[in-house]
Amino acid sequence: MSTNKLPEENSLSQYYIVNDPLHHLFDIAEAISVQGYDENRRVIYWNKGSEILYGYSSQEAIGQQLEDLILPEPMKEPVIAGINNWINNGVEIPSGELVLRRKNAEDVTVFSTHVLFTNEHDKKQMYCIDVNLSDLRHVEAEVELKEHMLEATFEVIPDLFFLMEQDSTITDYYAGKNSKLYISPKNFMNKPVSDFLPVDVADKFKSNIDKAITNGNVVSFEYDLLMPRDKAYFEARMTPLADNKQVIVIVRDITEQHHASELIKRHAFYDNLTGLPNRFLALDRLSQMLNEAERNNENTAVFFLDLDDFKKVNDTLGHDVGDKLLVESAARLKKLLRKEDTVGRLGGDEFILLIRRLEGDHNASSIAKNLLKAFRKPFEIDGRELILTLSIGIAMSPENGKDTSKLLRNADTAMYKAKSLGRNTYSFYTKEMNSKMLRRLEVEGQMRGALARGEFEVNYQPQINAFTKEVIGAEALLRWYNPELGHVSPAEFIPIAEDTGLIVPIGQFVLEQALSFLNLWQSKHQSTLRIAVNLSPRQFRDNRLISFIEKALTNAKIDASNLELEITEGVLMIGKNYIDDALIELHKMGIKLSMDDFGTGYSSLSYLRQYAFDILKIDRSFITNITNNKSDCDLVKGTIAMAHSLGLKVVAEGVETKEQFELLNQLTCDYIQGYYFSKPITPQQLVEFSVES
Ligand code: C2E
Ligand code: MG
Ligand code: MG
Repeated sequence: MSTNKLPEENSLSQYYIVNDPLHHLFDIAEAISVQGYDENRRVIYWNKGSEILYGYSSQEAIGQQLEDLILPEPMKEPVIAGINNWINNGVEIPSGELVLRRKNAEDVTVFSTHVLFTNEHDKKQMYCIDVNLSDLRHVEAEVELKEHMLEATFEVIPDLFFLMEQDSTITDYYAGKNSKLYISPKNFMNKPVSDFLPVDVADKFKSNIDKAITNGNVVSFEYDLLMPRDKAYFEARMTPLADNKQVIVIVRDITEQHHASELIKRHAFYDNLTGLPNRFLALDRLSQMLNEAERNNENTAVFFLDLDDFKKVNDTLGHDVGDKLLVESAARLKKLLRKEDTVGRLGGDEFILLIRRLEGDHNASSIAKNLLKAFRKPFEIDGRELILTLSIGIAMSPENGKDTSKLLRNADTAMYKAKSLGRNTYSFYTKEMNSKMLRRLEVEGQMRGALARGEFEVNYQPQINAFTKEVIGAEALLRWYNPELGHVSPAEFIPIAEDTGLIVPIGQFVLEQALSFLNLWQSKHQSTLRIAVNLSPRQFRDNRLISFIEKALTNAKIDASNLELEITEGVLMIGKNYIDDALIELHKMGIKLSMDDFGTGYSSLSYLRQYAFDILKIDRSFITNITNNKSDCDLVKGTIAMAHSLGLKVVAEGVETKEQFELLNQLTCDYIQGYYFSKPITPQQLVEFSVES
């Protein structure tokens, strides 16, 4: 509070108003400056607010003239004239904004209001009430700057800014005039978005406005619009304003980013060669499908497809042809599927099909049949016709598993089964397959290296002349003892050795062993003894087969006529020229050929006529019931007669009883092989073996 003491001698005392209640009020007011002046513009009153605003204390100010205190130079003259004019002529000085001067010479903007009145001494007094506008001006300047900044920002940012009401009506809009997205505001101002955007997009806007307002935070979403040229993609971000009745919406064109991310997605989720979903995406779709299927109680099928012998195509015709085949195969698969199904490439020549909602005609078997059918037509690649077949494994959900990895594994297992059934077929997963698969893998693993470790051994089963009961020869039968697996039956490991190709070195081992044993055996008995060796189809694919056999015969000093090679119908059914050529070659060399397991396959007479067979071996399955099943007996009788008419000798396999032997004798079977005379035995045992009479 200021106390306005005037000097004793100052004649200004007549202006001094003691105890004026207004002064008391002004004294303490800090926010406004109140100054009193006499007729000569000398300060007679200076409140606290004046001290703060102008920097002079009341002691400093009292008695000083207005123009010496707070008027800047150019204002002095007109102000003095104005005041005099007011005092003398009653022309009021209007209130207004002024820039005055502080004690420290700074400018200060004030809004100044003036009153002039006459006191009890009949003297004129002027009071000025000044409000500091500097802060306000500052704020205003800042606002202006911000507005400029915003405008400049809108100009350089390619986004569109909207102010929207809760019902999506646009009430304000900013966009740089140069923005690619600039649209004239008249197109949408004061309209709800549904007036100019497609329904689905407008709905998105509305639901997101609600979300932003309800949650009071930023929401964002994407949408696309069909533009005159092509589709454009946008991202909209919304934030509610303080009153929660409007939202600010920023719309950005993200078409380019969208295309870029699509490209990245393609690489990450699709197979480059075929354009099909890759393993990752296919399995992701499967897991989604399974979730939906579980909710809706539906069946889903997983088809695991593998192109048969694709590796061979790749190796012999080159990767270019292989790639083209894969692309064509993918196209054929895609054509067969409904929109809601998925076909993906798992890698290499493996594909996966995901089929949902199996029902009626749309069942797994008929789909599998259609798939096989689709591959029956040859592929035309570079002017060449190629036949490619499929092996298909099928696992169904929920029966064969409810999760992706289990279903995939089981479909894979079933696919292996289809392969082992001879390819170009399909197979459903069954529980037993799993343990079989594991066992198979184990056997396969142990078999590698088994030859080098000396785990194989050849045993021999004698063959007896049915009339003389003399030993005429023996069949070489492979035995495998593995420390991990124990004895493994050839029925189990031979097919695996065929699949892996290991049968080639193993077969060579058997042949060498058998021939060198025969040399010894003949030297102990008579030189007409012969050995039968089984040959697998796979061994014919080895183009060194003939030369190998020739060399082995020479090395062991065995006459070709004492070697018999047993093949099954399966070999002939492959129908390959190289097999025919090999059989002709073997026959020319004087080697005997026998048809093994006759009766189990097609038992085709035409094969017997077509190829130069010497011996026919009737399969054990017909011998087993020969004494108590008339039709089996008739069949064996017929077969023997037929074989004899073609000049073939007949061996009965699996003869276990005296009765069987005697009956076969009656039916004029030539040779007998079976437990009745002997199980397969070691070479040493065979050297000592003879039939007791
Ligand atoms: P296979 O060529 O038909 O051989 C005859 C099979 O019948 C042998 O089984 C033999 O032990 C068995 N057998 C013989 N007499 C009787 C009998 O009275 N009762 C019964 N229950 N069985 C009898 P093994 O040794 O288990 O061989 C099974 C199959 O494995 C052979 O059938 C043959 O196809 C294949 N195999 C065996 N050794 C070789 C080989 O060195 N190379 C090739 N490629 N296959 C072989
Ligand atoms: Mg055999
Ligand atoms: Mg046999």
